[in-house]
Amino acid sequence: MTTEQRVYITVNELLEIEFRCKKCHVVFAWPLAAATGFRVNNCPGYNTDWFGEMDHRRKNLDQILIALRGFRETLADANFELRFRITPHAAA
Ligand SMILES: [Zn+2]
Repeated sequence: MTTEQRVYITVNELLEIEFRCKKCHVVFAWPLAAATGFRVNNCPGYNTDWFGEMDHRRKNLDQILIALRGFRETLADANFELRFRITPHAAA
């Protein structure tokens, strides 16, 4: 017999985004529920650039954060539940 484990999380179970600097290994976490926008562009450890000028990844990150905050605020009265499937080991 083969079994398969599927693990899902909801938007409200997403708590933080976390950056781990590949150069100095500093970890920086930002709560998704924070009222103010994410403004870190450099490593808080040794000031390594994480996002350059006009870096499209920065814009993409901002859009993801805005969308996640929007879902957290508006899905409570929706007629559906939105879930994300994650790899099983990620839930441990
Ligand atoms: Zn660093």
